[in-house]
This record gives sequence, structure tokens and C-alpha cells, in this order.
Amino acid sequence: MDTPPITESLRVIPGKLTPEFKTEFDFSRYRGYFRSIEKCNGSGDCRKSELIGGTMCPTFMATRDEDKSTRGRANILREFLYSTEKEKPFGQQEIYDILDLCISCKACKAECPSNVDMAKLKAEFMQQYYDIHGIPLRSKLIAYLPRLNSLAVLVRPLSNFVMNTSVLKKVIGFSTKRNVPKLSKITLNQWVNNGIPLPENETKGKVYLFNDEFTNYNESDIGIKAILLLTKLGYEVKIPIHKESGRTFLSKGLVRTSKKIATENVNLLKDIISEKTPLVGIEPSAILAFRDEYPDLVDNDLQTAATELGKNALLFEEFIAAEIEKVNITSEQFTSETKEILLHGHCQQKAVASTEPSKRMLSLPKNYSVKEIPSGCCGMAGSFGYEKEHYDLSMKIGEMVLFPAVRAAEEKILISAPGTSCRHHIKDGTGKQAKHPVEVLYDALNI
Ligand code: SF4
Ligand code: SF4
Repeated sequence: MDTPPITESLRVIPGKLTPEFKTEFDFSRYRGYFRSIEKCNGSGDCRKSELIGGTMCPTFMATRDEDKSTRGRANILREFLYSTEKEKPFGQQEIYDILDLCISCKACKAECPSNVDMAKLKAEFMQQYYDIHGIPLRSKLIAYLPRLNSLAVLVRPLSNFVMNTSVLKKVIGFSTKRNVPKLSKITLNQWVNNGIPLPENETKGKVYLFNDEFTNYNESDIGIKAILLLTKLGYEVKIPIHKESGRTFLSKGLVRTSKKIATENVNLLKDIISEKTPLVGIEPSAILAFRDEYPDLVDNDLQTAATELGKNALLFEEFIAAEIEKVNITSEQFTSETKEILLHGHCQQKAVASTEPSKRMLSLPKNYSVKEIPSGCCGMAGSFGYEKEHYDLSMKIGEMVLFPAVRAAEEKILISAPGTSCRHHIKDGTGKQAKHPVEVLYDALNI
């Protein structure tokens, strides 16, 4: 008797038009921002537990709260944008509070039956929210970190010390329990300026390495190993002129700046990158921006070029796996020692690409065996896990599957993770140092 009639509490108010919004990202594939939210049909597949597997939705898995599921976020966004009479609907705090805890892992884009892309919806919302309320200092610092690092390297020992003082972490709003990534002794660009070695024998082809902002400033040792590994395997390596990937801007919702970066990168690289001369990247979140975000960021006249570029922007592991298929790289070039490896894939790699090439690359030495940890997103999600109010949730996500699996691994088992944030999170959560697949394969060379 108390059940309301079927014509009440409807999602759509008869006669009310679907709101249209001007956006930085191109949402035209789904006829606009609002309809991209409306793709959520409410099925609730995003309310899985970690026992079921998959990545979507890590924040729901860790909290079991509806408002921390993809569906909860889609419902809040839709309802607040649809029902409001406010002149600036993107200024609503209620939406900000709900989207703040989306860690932009992109799992929903791949695993939701309707492919709701909450990471993209969030980034667009943040840009418009900041246009109304201003950009917080911490978001600016994180977004511009690659550019700040170009200055910080000039006083490197001091900047490494200062960045890890509790006082500065508190001022910025970072958790004092976190170790801030240190700057490398030398940037990859500085190392490359001394000359990239050439293959000793006939080259198997030319490879362009994308010197992403994380590798260049914080992990140039991995970049150097990537270059040496490719060279020893017979490839001519070049670092083309390019800008940073824009990932730090995207993750903080500074979409307009990432749009500029994407446009510059597409213009700089479109005429030199091809199937035969691919762009290969070490950090998944950086190189996959070419494939996932750039085509929706650039203006219409560059979209075809951006899509083509994205197809030839490969994870390092994708390049190696393809060369293994062509028998250009064989297990004879590597050690015959026995090694067990536990792999944690990057969440955006799982959503936009696959962990299969990582497994193929890591199992190339004939007595290497690889098991993938059934972990979703590690929980660090770029800067999210560093932010003081997000630290506990990030650790809780790590504790669901990843940390226990890493802790339970015997000492002789090697932990491998392609994502820089994942490696830092594993170190902070378990004390163990994970290696990038590049490092594992470089160390296994016998030529
Ligand atoms: S976000 Fe996707 S999985 Fe979750 S309820 Fe909506 S349609 Fe279903
Ligand atoms: S991007 Fe990740 S955290 Fe955000 S809603 Fe989708 S699955 Fe959840």
C-alpha cells in the first residue's frame, strides 16, 4: 500500500530537457557530459568485494559505502547537475565531496557493463569546479611538480632533504607517514646528453623512448636501464623532443593545461611516430595518456593524428612482447637462472591495455616464472595516497589483496610492478622494494 506509484520518483522529470554543458574533454561520443553520466544503469556491478576479483571499484571494496562506488558517484553527479536551478551547477560542494575519493583508477571504464568513465568525468568536473572556486595550493604543486622538479634538481641534495621533512609535508598537506619520492642523482635527459650508445651489430629498428616526467627526475636509473637493454637487444634508441605527459595535471583536474600539453605532444610526435618507429614508455600512467586521453583532449582537427599516435604509443612491455612474437628477441639472450616473480599490474594498464605483455616479458628468460597478484588498484593512485586525508583509505585498499600477497612472498621471490606509485606504495606498506619489469629483464641479460 505504501509503495509509491510507478510514475513517481523518476530519474527524469517529464518535459525537462537534458542539460548541456561546455566541456574541455570531448564527450561527443556519448552525446555530451550529462549523457556520459547517464550511461550508469544502476546494475551495481561496481559494488563487488575484493573476493570476486577485478579492480572496480577499489574505494567501494575498501569501505562498502554506496557513495564510494562508481554508481554512487554517477547518481550524485547526475542528480545534482539535473535538479539544480543554480547558475553554476559545477560549483556544488556535494559533488566535489563525493568525487574527491574517486582514485581515477579507470577500472569502471573497462569493467562497468556500461563503461562509465568516472576518472574522465571527475577530471572534467574538477576543472569546472576550480574555475569557480580556484585551485587549491596542493593541487597546483602536484600538477606542476614536473616543472618544479626541473628547478629542484639544481639543488638536489637539499631539495630531497626538504621534501621529506615533516614540516613541509604538513604545510603541503601530505601525510607525514609517507616518504616523498627522491630526485635521482642525474636526470635521464642529462645522461642522454652524453650520448646514447648504438647497437653493436646491425640494428633491428628504431625506437623512440618517451622520457616521462617520473622517470626523468625520480627514476632515471630505470630509464638508463631501458635504453641499455634496448640497445643491447639491437635497437637504436632516440628520445624525441616532447613535453611531459600531462598526467599530474589530469590527475588533479587541470584539464585545460593537459589539453595544451596533449596538443603540443601530438604536434611534436605525429610525424615521427609510426608502427615501425613506435613511442615506448616506461611509466604506464604517462604513456597511456597518449592512448586514452589525448584523442579526447585535442581539437577536432588533430583527433585523427592523436588516435594514430595513441595506437603506436606502447608500454615498454608491449614493445618487447611484440618483438618476442617476431622472434627478434629470444630467451637465449638472457640468463638460464631460475627466478620466481610476483607481478602487480598498474590499474590504468589493466583498464586501457593489459598485463599480458608484462607477464610475457618477465617470463622470457627460460627459467623465470611469473604469477600475477589478483590485486586491483594498489591504492596509491598518483598523489592520492600521499594526501593526509586520503592516507588511511589508500592503505586500506593496499591491505585488501596486494600487501598481504607481497608480505607472504618468500624473500627469494622478486616483486615486480610497472607503476612508480605502486612501487612506492608497496615499499611504504610492506617494506619490500618492487622492481620495474625493465630492471628485471636488464638484470637478466647475458649478452
Ligand atoms: S557504474 Fe556501471 S557497474 Fe556501477 S551501477 Fe552504474 S552501470 Fe552498473
Ligand atoms: S575510477 Fe576507479 S575509484 Fe573512480 S569510480 Fe571508477 S573504479 Fe571507482
